[in-house]
Amino acid sequence: MRYSQMLIPTLREEPADAEVKSHSLMLRAGYIRKVAAGVYTYLPLCLRVIRKVENIVREEMSASGAQELLLPIVMPAELWQETGRWAVYGKELLRFRDRHNRDFCIGPTHEEAITDLLRYYVSSYRDLPKNCFQIQTKFRDEIRPRFGLMRGREFIMKDGYSFDCSAEKAHKTYDEMYDAYKRIFNRCGLRYRPVEATTGTIGGSRSHEFQVLAESGEDEIVSCTKCEYAANVEKAELRPSSPESKKTEGGKFKKVETPNQKSVEEVCSFLKKKSTDLVKTLIFETDKGPIAGLVRGDHVLKEAKLKDAVGCEWCHMAEENTVKEVTGAPSGFSGPVNLAIPVYVDHSVADMKDFVVGANELDLHFVDVNISDFKIDKYVDIRRAQAGDGCPKCKDGVYEEHKGIEVGQVFYLGTKYSEPMKATYLDEAGESKAIYMGCYGIGIGRTAAAAIEQNHDENGMIWPLPIAPFHVEIVPLAKDGEVVDIAEKIYRELEERNIEVLIDDRDLRAGVKFKDADLIGIPYRIIVGNKGLTDGVVELKERKSGDSQRVTPEEVVDKMVEMVSHLG
Ligand SMILES: [Zn+2]
Repeated sequence: MRYSQMLIPTLREEPADAEVKSHSLMLRAGYIRKVAAGVYTYLPLCLRVIRKVENIVREEMSASGAQELLLPIVMPAELWQETGRWAVYGKELLRFRDRHNRDFCIGPTHEEAITDLLRYYVSSYRDLPKNCFQIQTKFRDEIRPRFGLMRGREFIMKDGYSFDCSAEKAHKTYDEMYDAYKRIFNRCGLRYRPVEATTGTIGGSRSHEFQVLAESGEDEIVSCTKCEYAANVEKAELRPSSPESKKTEGGKFKKVETPNQKSVEEVCSFLKKKSTDLVKTLIFETDKGPIAGLVRGDHVLKEAKLKDAVGCEWCHMAEENTVKEVTGAPSGFSGPVNLAIPVYVDHSVADMKDFVVGANELDLHFVDVNISDFKIDKYVDIRRAQAGDGCPKCKDGVYEEHKGIEVGQVFYLGTKYSEPMKATYLDEAGESKAIYMGCYGIGIGRTAAAAIEQNHDENGMIWPLPIAPFHVEIVPLAKDGEVVDIAEKIYRELEERNIEVLIDDRDLRAGVKFKDADLIGIPYRIIVGNKGLTDGVVELKERKSGDSQRVTPEEVVDKMVEMVSHLG
């Protein structure tokens, strides 16, 4: 392609409202243009990246037995009413009425539509398994869209759904999808981790997220230094404490005054204690009634882990009036001694002795409390894992922390959607059974944005070769003569050998061309100038390392063919 003919409207200035690098660079480098909040036009360079990610996804999904189809963007309300999601989805679901006054929505996800399709065609075990995916534009009416393609309202996504006749077979399909996802993100040239994850609003019982590692990532993940285990901190397990440490003597605690001292920091500095000498008692409301969760003063309680440990449907921090009702004191003074609600205690508390807790009275705490001083319903793993914690899956590994951007997630759903939607099949004995499902998503635009978050410098983007809009850019440093002749010759030869090449044929100063080249981030650059040509060479420069080599025009073509041949 010729730069002069392409629409690449680069900007010199930093856009005002871009909070993350991928957003600002995509705007500056002429990749996207905002049309409305969270709604963007994909300009030609961006679309080339999007198509490459899509093709890698398509090839690997097909290779693992999934077949592509395309569900409608617009769906009737009846489908969503069947699963009850029409009522509970809220304002993120963009709804409208057609000319006959019938309710419709624009799909933010397609579990209903695909289950409706499959229940129509699947009647017997002979019709299973089926595994279908689509790559499609979706819409989620986020209240505060931001970060460009990272969290837009309109976005391109790959979503896939599998249908099997037993839990065992559905788990096997899940494993195949997990492996396909690893191949996809390897082929995209990204540094990433598959991590154990919570299932959130989608539901189901088993899930992994694929996290692209980047400092700007919003997700916190931990991974073991010795084994394969890695997990989102919302989920990450910890080693249980040793049981013998739980035998401590009680009965020696005393009440002390702590006027107006509520937070861990305030209480500790007032009593001259360390945060590791204090136990936080946090009150939660759940569908099973109010409960207390106890963690060490310096630890963070994770609601998602508490919800799993207790086995409740929902769980959130109690309002002030509930805290007063169940403890008899305002928040900041809650404690487990004589507390009448179920008490869930994090394993790490079991190793503590003579600690501080709230006394369930205003401005009062207890000191020298031990775990035999109160009733414990269950020891549970509810605190946030952190760097240095021992790995629960192996002997001597410890956790290290990373920041990640979630670009894909796989879920084992079981019969969560098939049961309410009556998606059943007849087994070999002629008995009607619910179909076992899994679902598998990849954010296509978000993968492109995550690639930029992971790969950029102060001058612009640095695309990994497999998903770059072009493999190489030729920059001729003159507007006519031998420089242009040689540059055009290299351009033709590269095109003939199927190398994706952009030639900057604009009549502009070298400095401007280099600035734009850095910004749009093509992995390789061939610089053709009079100076080099007197020695019969051109310069081949790698965007990432900045390394350059002087080679003949013939060699430069062979070198590019060689590099691109590794992409497979
Ligand atoms: Zn480990």
